[in-house]
Amino acid sequence: MVKHLDISSIKKITVLGEGKTAKSVLNKLNELALFEITTDTANTDLVIISPGLDPKKYTLGITAPVISEMELAYLLFQYFKNPPKIITITGTNGKTTTTDVISQLLNIPSAGNIGVPLIEFVSNNPTKVPKMISLEASSYQLEMSPTFKPEVYILMNITEDHLERHGTMEEYARIKLKVLHLLTNKDYFIYNSKDTFTMDFLSKNKIAANLIDIHKRDEIAYLLKESPLLGEHNQENLSAAINASLIMDKNSITIEKIRNIKAYPHRLEKVRTLNGVEFINDSKATNPDSTIAALNSIPGEKTILLLGGEKKSVSYEQMFSLIRKNNVRCIAFGGARDFFYEALSDSPLMLGKTYNLEEAIKLAYSKVNSGDVVLLSPACASFDMYKNFEERGHEYKQIVSTIPNN
Ligand code: ADP
Repeated sequence: MVKHLDISSIKKITVLGEGKTAKSVLNKLNELALFEITTDTANTDLVIISPGLDPKKYTLGITAPVISEMELAYLLFQYFKNPPKIITITGTNGKTTTTDVISQLLNIPSAGNIGVPLIEFVSNNPTKVPKMISLEASSYQLEMSPTFKPEVYILMNITEDHLERHGTMEEYARIKLKVLHLLTNKDYFIYNSKDTFTMDFLSKNKIAANLIDIHKRDEIAYLLKESPLLGEHNQENLSAAINASLIMDKNSITIEKIRNIKAYPHRLEKVRTLNGVEFINDSKATNPDSTIAALNSIPGEKTILLLGGEKKSVSYEQMFSLIRKNNVRCIAFGGARDFFYEALSDSPLMLGKTYNLEEAIKLAYSKVNSGDVVLLSPACASFDMYKNFEERGHEYKQIVSTIPNN
């Protein structure tokens, strides 16, 4: 592990990967013209590895230090002596939403996993560097970022995910928690007191940072109740975002700003209200847990749930129980239509199965009453018919927007 890497001693850099992050790093290195770029990993001073590549597989035999794009950006910010203040958001779920809400509340750019790599904000011209950045960090980025230290670190939760890369839950949790050892008494750790791994860590380690629990809500309750984002999980995200914004600028929050928060696309996103019927796009729900979160956010008896796509190899039983308990009407579509149709056929709430999403929307609209919600929260991957969940969500929005208003 690299401890204190001196950027001024680096002459040659190698970039591993061919995706968006690697391209951004190469563009920035070319723009800065400080280093020679080489593909010769045996003769380089520093290797930048893209988040999609597993270091265990791709760095065998490399003796030079290997770091992430995020760490490189951090080191370059320090090198140019005008570092932005960084709020970093991580966790298994809720990262993108929280990162985006902070960016809306403080009117600052968002970066990292959410879209634009952090390195794109590096500049040798101090006037071009934003004062603050809301940064979504995945465990893949954190894993290879040994000295990266934000001013505010938000850890939403640690639940089972990405074990194919990190091996065990303990290792996955360690990667997310190790940043805490670097925080100083000027920094803040915004944490979730209902998260077992975080609480276990805090009980065993003394950390210097100021602590803020997203479940201590008395002082911000009047703001949280104005949230346009649906569901308890979004109350957690908003609590984290409000606390982070208040740390950075105690005058940043108004009730008006909270009321105007926009949902991030494809996450319980309100699309249209038509004759008293609300259409919601939650295409990001690609597994049953996410659909459960959505069903817990909307009254069941008002909901017509569009379920379908490419089924995941996980248990759907808990989701089915909730559908039955809450009397949620369902329509099955796409690749997994037969699976859902049959699994819920014992329930009088299965309205039918359709070949595709367009037919599912039409069927739903033919069955609605005023006050109902048509919810696309499919609990499946989109690859049966789409490139990704974004494409599926866009199609839903496009079809819904063309239903005639009569
Ligand atoms: P991420 O970027 O971590 O994937 P998102 O904000 O994109 O998180 O939300 C993805 C899904 O995760 C949502 O559709 C919702 O089902 C679930 N989710 C969001 N926030 C939370 C939270 N705080 N706790 C648990 N689940 C959440």
